[in-house]
Formats: sequence, C-alpha cells, structure tokens
Amino acid sequence: MVGKLRALLWDLDGTLAETEEVHRAAFNRAFAEMGLPVFWDQDLYRSLLETTGGKERIARFLQDCQGCPPLSPEEIARLHRRKNELFAELLAQGVDLRPGVFRLLWEAKGAGLRLALATTTSPENVHVFLARTGLEGVFDLILAGDVVPRKKPDPAIYLLALKRLELRPGEALALEDSRNGLLAAFRAGLPVLVTPGLYTAHQGFPEAQAVLTHLGEPGRPGQVLQGPRQGQALVADLAYLEEVRGWWST
Ligand SMILES: [Mg+2]
Repeated sequence: MVGKLRALLWDLDGTLAETEEVHRAAFNRAFAEMGLPVFWDQDLYRSLLETTGGKERIARFLQDCQGCPPLSPEEIARLHRRKNELFAELLAQGVDLRPGVFRLLWEAKGAGLRLALATTTSPENVHVFLARTGLEGVFDLILAGDVVPRKKPDPAIYLLALKRLELRPGEALALEDSRNGLLAAFRAGLPVLVTPGLYTAHQGFPEAQAVLTHLGEPGRPGQVLQGPRQGQALVADLAYLEEVRGWWST
C-alpha cells in the first residue's frame, strides 16, 4: 500500500483511450451509408462536442449545414441508431489505450490499491471495451451507464463510487480528461489528475491537482503542465500520485 492512497477512480472515454475518435468514425460511416454529403473532421467534431447527446449533435450540425438535406426527427433518430451499431462494431475491432494507462493500472493493482471505473458509457460498450483492451477483471468496481440519475459534471457517480468502496475522498484519486469530468470528481471532494486528450486539450483545469499531457511510458514520458513537478517530463507512478494526493490535503 502506498501512503494513504487506497483507490484510483478512472474515467473511461478520453482517459483510458481516445474513444471519441471511434464515435467520430461511426458518425462518418453512418452519414456515408445514408448518402449524406457530410464528413466530420477533428476540428469540426471538437466544436460539435459542445452539444451533448448524439441525436442533438446531428440536429445542431444540420441547422448550419449548407447543402445538407433537411432530416425529420425520425430520420435523425434512425441515423443515430445506425451510428450506435457502427460504434459497437468499431469498438469490437479494438482501440488503443493511452500511454501509461495499462502500466499504471497494473502497478496500482500490484500495490493493493482498489480500482474503480466511473463512466456514463453504456455497460455493453464498457464490457466490449474492457475485453478488447485486456482490462477484463482489472476493476474492482464498475459504475457505468445510467447508474446515477445525473451525468458529469454532477458529482453523483463519484459519490456513489466512494460509498461503494467505503472510502473518504482523501483516500482516493480521480483520473479524468475533461472539464466536466474534473468538476464531477472535484465536487465529490476528490483530488483529480487530468490528462487532457484530443478533444479536451483546449479546456481549462484550474481545480485539478495536476495536469499531465499523458501518464507516460519509459522512453516516452508525459509532460507535467500543472501541479507537483510542473514543467518536468515524467512517467506517472504511484509515488507521484501520492504526491498529487498529498498536495491536495495540505
Ligand atoms: Mg472523459
């Protein structure tokens, strides 16, 4: 056991892997299948992510799209259902974990820390993701889908995780990639380490205890953007996480 750190609470989308890229590919395939002259590149998708929910995102895009045919709510719903089918198929083909994720999970497990997953992704997609990335059986607790009534940035999912693990906020550390995720964990009283990704690097994380480009691997360290050892390149390990947590409690 390391210091007073008892558990790591992980977000999935954007933190364990860049799954938003799989969503984007699924949207683009669904558009092509339906004969729509539409392609969402990374810059466009980054702005569209400000609209939460797939159907809502498509409708928002169509409002400003020059040359797109008008779609009824039923057609948008059908397009979105097909997108979800394609997402599940693409996810089953595999997605890479972000640097340092696999190493740190096993390092923490070996040290006796408990591991929890706190995500609003559906339980079916979580299962496929864990199976394809070699993480089945790694997490002691999985909170997925509509397990709480309100999504992040509401703290409900993190409060539930702490309750289930019978831990106080100062005994755990949350790992997130986005501002909404950071706020959810922060409002639950948790110290938070943020590794911003492709679609969240432009966001602000002033409430975070530390912000790293990624968790890092030997030979490919992450850069500490904020928090303990700012400006350094490092491979995030349990000693660093304990430092982050200790920094929070002082
Ligand atoms: Mg996320």
